[in-house]
Amino acid sequence: MRRRHFLGATGAAALLAGSGAFARTLAALAAGPGDIAARTLSGGETLLPGAHVAALAAALRGAVILPGTAGYESARKAWNGLFDRRPALIAQCTGAADVVAAVDFAREHALLTAVRGGGHSTSGKSTCEGGLIIDLSPMRAVRVDAATRTARVAGGALLGQLDHETAIHGLATTSGTVSHTGAGGLTLGGGYGRLARRFGLACDNVRAFDLVTADGKALVVTEAAHPDLYWGLRGGGGNFGVVTSFDFRLHEVDPIVLGGILVWPAQRARDLLRFYRDAVATLPDDVNVDVFMAHTPDGPVIGMELCASGRRSAGERVAAQLRTFGKPLVDTIAPIAYVTLQKRVDAQNPHGVFHYGKAGFMRELGDAAIDAAIDSFAAAPPGSIVLSIQLGGGAIGRVAKDATAFTHRDGNFWVVQISNWTDPALTESHIAAARTSWARIDPHTSGKYVNSIAEEDYGKLRVLYGPNLERLIALKDRYDPANLFRLNANVAPSRRADELSLPATPRPVAGRRAT
Ligand code: FAD
Repeated sequence: MRRRHFLGATGAAALLAGSGAFARTLAALAAGPGDIAARTLSGGETLLPGAHVAALAAALRGAVILPGTAGYESARKAWNGLFDRRPALIAQCTGAADVVAAVDFAREHALLTAVRGGGHSTSGKSTCEGGLIIDLSPMRAVRVDAATRTARVAGGALLGQLDHETAIHGLATTSGTVSHTGAGGLTLGGGYGRLARRFGLACDNVRAFDLVTADGKALVVTEAAHPDLYWGLRGGGGNFGVVTSFDFRLHEVDPIVLGGILVWPAQRARDLLRFYRDAVATLPDDVNVDVFMAHTPDGPVIGMELCASGRRSAGERVAAQLRTFGKPLVDTIAPIAYVTLQKRVDAQNPHGVFHYGKAGFMRELGDAAIDAAIDSFAAAPPGSIVLSIQLGGGAIGRVAKDATAFTHRDGNFWVVQISNWTDPALTESHIAAARTSWARIDPHTSGKYVNSIAEEDYGKLRVLYGPNLERLIALKDRYDPANLFRLNANVAPSRRADELSLPATPRPVAGRRAT
């Protein structure tokens, strides 16, 4: 163990005593500064000397939270309640310097490491059993520069915070459809949302990333500086390091858009999906129309959600066209604050819900795919799944498939099957039913999205990354050869981590210089 990189327990305790932020860690260590059992990258066990953990706590402005201390139970929780993991320690980072210290600690102890932005990984990749969570949740600042139309967004910020700050300037950029989702994970994997057809994916709008790499370097990644990483961070997920800040390009968007839903009984689903397919074929980019099928207390329904963020006349025309489908059960389309529409389904996706999702892209919505979707929804136990289609195309599709790591530019329809439940007794049956349902739809898909896959799909790297896979592996070899950042849609380096000796460059945990 490289003890000399860490303060001794006494020195650490003296430092800790002066800072309220470290009180929880100090309490735990004072109670018995024994070694902490932890999980390594290779799945083995290690003992972290208490003095090393104390030194990490002393190096951070944020808190290091340990099992059994106040705050641990809430800090370890993931959005998806299925992933009830107990990490050995949680490093709550307040900025890039904290992240560098945490990454150095993880690497030097070869620790299983998760990085948490908003915590909404549908398959629990931002938490882990027995390892370290590098928790960015204290980093949520959003600063808008209206003159340059740029938003600087900290790595742990939530989409609602981004939308909230940009709207007061009459500006926005693409973000997702549930406001408590993290900007970090969503953007690194791609980033679909109500403005994506107009402005491209969230990742297409990033000008610069502040990145901490596996060797603990703090880089500013732009098209000019580190173009290889700039390519890989736009769709390659969390494979290449921890993004501590994003600079997003903003666009003029009226804070009031035309939006809302139209709902019909699910018996009309086949006709509606064909109608929808035809209607969206000529849709202007500044209009988005998504579809959902769900069970309500009054029975199963199918609906369309409109968001017309540009010219009001274009929105009115599309709304009128959608209404020609027939008299709906519900019609809420009206002028609405964009930030309000962005929260429309927040409550249906609460923190702690048990969630199992299957999803894939379709280039076309053919009759056979429509039939499969309807059959699968009809056959699923009532209330067990919600089916949604988020529309692609527009600006998303005008980017070349190899211009960014995100390759599914022709995935015109992102089809998502969602199962949410709260009773743990239903877990097995819900997952089984969801798999059976999705098996009908899956053959019609043309690729999968790293941000929305179930555990069993993580190994399907060609399906996830297409022809960009080899370039991503080369990037991984260069920036993370030991695969420290593996809890993601993991692009494993070409050499196995156990063939490499983990970097053992002695250095202090604090006082590093940014590059
Ligand atoms: P986390 O769980 O924190 O992280 C997910 C992954 O990203 C992990 O591998 C993590 O290590 C990595 N990561 C996160 N932040 C960073 C960072 N700063 N630096 C390095 N790595 C990081 N996707 C869409 O495209 N459009 C949508 O409209 C949409 N809606 C969604 C709604 C809900 C309710 C949910 C649960 C998901 C939705 N998704 C959507 C999928 C979403 O993009 C992913 O779940 C995404 O990973 C969430 O990001 P996060 O930061 O909250 O997740």
